[in-house]
Amino acid sequence: MSKKAFPLGKNELENIASEYQTPFHLYDEKAIRESVRYFIKSFSWAPGFKNYFAVKACPNPTIISILKEEGCGVDCSSLPELLLADKLGFRGEEIMFTSNDTPPEEFIEANRLGAVINLDDITHVQSLEKSAGFPEMISFRYNPGDLRSGNFIIGEPKEAKYGVPRDQIIDAYRLAASRGARRFGLHTMVASNELNDSYFVETARMLFELAVKIKQETGIGVELINLGGGIGIPYRPDEEAVDLKLVSREIHDHYKHLIVENGLDPVKIVYECGRMITGPYGYLVSRVRHVTRKYKDFVGLDACMADLMRPAIYGAYHHITVPGKEGLPHDHVYDITGSLCENIDKFAVNRSLPKITPGDLIVIHDTGAHGYAMGFNYNGKLRSKELLLKEEGAVLLIRRAETIDDYFSTLRFPDAPYKV
Ligand SMILES: *Cc1c(COP(=O)(O)O)cnc(C)c1O
Repeated sequence: MSKKAFPLGKNELENIASEYQTPFHLYDEKAIRESVRYFIKSFSWAPGFKNYFAVKACPNPTIISILKEEGCGVDCSSLPELLLADKLGFRGEEIMFTSNDTPPEEFIEANRLGAVINLDDITHVQSLEKSAGFPEMISFRYNPGDLRSGNFIIGEPKEAKYGVPRDQIIDAYRLAASRGARRFGLHTMVASNELNDSYFVETARMLFELAVKIKQETGIGVELINLGGGIGIPYRPDEEAVDLKLVSREIHDHYKHLIVENGLDPVKIVYECGRMITGPYGYLVSRVRHVTRKYKDFVGLDACMADLMRPAIYGAYHHITVPGKEGLPHDHVYDITGSLCENIDKFAVNRSLPKITPGDLIVIHDTGAHGYAMGFNYNGKLRSKELLLKEEGAVLLIRRAETIDDYFSTLRFPDAPYKV
């Protein structure tokens, strides 16, 4: 039995499933709003605190406009994400642009929007200047190399393709200043799905120390420190969420000792978290098609890895519940699979669950970030729809499912003219 919650009872979910048809991702608006509010409240001491929601985690306009109402900015990493931000009414420095291997058209659009551009490399100073001109405000993504260790999902910083290394970071600020930058930010992103509280405190301390060093060596005072994303969520029922109040308190101590005492205060403190904001409040709901017995017992769903890649890519754990059967003994061991012709298309391997029969609804938890968004069309699989469970209990379709026409829309058939 788990402490993992789902906001609806079995009958309510059956009603939604019969109206909209499975599979679908369902997002809980109330819980998402509460999660942002708690984050912002935890950092109420921090000057200009803001979370720039990482669009890639859940690129749905309805979800992002809810986050906008709650005071979030957006962190974009591509041209379509910038255009989405623009369409939703994010303006100027409400947009953070954190890209790598960036093409000129993305620099141009980010600059046109007045976004805070986070350069990924010292050579990008010139790329930006050549393509878009150089803005007054510029930020750099710092890669601390072997000063920090990463984790399984993101890898070791010194192996990473991202960010400005230690021995170039001071020169990067000098160069940007020589090109006309007058306002500066500093950013890093070294962890992904990290649950260790002290990791985030250490990251803040590292950036605060670097800000002091930049000031001492160049005279440049950064006005914004972006602590990145990567705050993890407890995918497993026995894991604990990051203690935001504790992390905030300890970061505040470092702020006082490093930023205030060195005359850099005020520095805006921001994050660009995606996962923590929406991850736990999205659910993939699917119906059981077949239960089969081979050398193991398999439960085949009407969803597949096109709807949720994390278990296949990372071996990630996603909790699974069977509405209406939560209280039954979990005495059956199943692999929970999709229908894709890849044996990695499994949502769970050797999972103890109650006895499952065809027609049961299955809830796969924690799909609200890096869930739908990572999907693909391999094997001609079409991605599912997205639904919003509104605060007052109504359900809204916020993205339709892909259709066969969508799938065919980029193709040329031999007997048809190619339309560009
Ligand atoms: C993916 C990403 C994020 C968001 O990460 P979460 O794990 O969803 O918090 C933030 N910043 C950058 C640069 C990223 O690549």
